[in-house]
Formats: sequence, C-alpha cells, structure tokens
Amino acid sequence: MADKTLKVAENVPGKWYVDETCVPCQTCLTEAPDLLKYNDDETKVYFFKQPSTAEEEDAAQRALDVCPTGSIGNDGE
Ligand code: SF4
Repeated sequence: MADKTLKVAENVPGKWYVDETCVPCQTCLTEAPDLLKYNDDETKVYFFKQPSTAEEEDAAQRALDVCPTGSIGNDGE
C-alpha cells in the first residue's frame, strides 16, 4: 500500500501518485507510458499526468496492480 505522505516530489497533484518506495523496476511504464515516467536522475518513477479518461484510469489501475513494491497509490488529494 503506497503512502501519500511519502510521494515522489515530481508527481503532479491529484489522487494518483508514486511513493518513495519505488525501486524503480519500470514494470509500470509498460502499462501507463502516457502517465508515468522516470524522474531526471532515474531513481524513481512519477505521475507526470493524472488520468483524465476511463482508458487512462484503467491504465493507472493496471500500473498499480503490477507494481511489485506497492509504490503506486490512488488515495492522494
Ligand atoms: S512498478 Fe512500482 S517499483 Fe516499479 S517503477 Fe513502477 S512504481 Fe516503481
């Protein structure tokens, strides 16, 4: 379960986020390449865009489901 108090700083505001437990293994990038990307030093992944369509919500959910470390959350503000 991701922790919204440990969000990667680069996440855009919104309910979806990646937290500091991201490895990063890049598994999620396959599921949601239009929402997620590496930060500049490639130490974490973050949401550069919040989902705005049903398809993007599904992609974000798939990314959450495949993350092996539970680093993706959807309980942000
Ligand atoms: S799947 Fe999880 S641990 Fe891997 S890069 Fe994505 S958020 Fe980070």
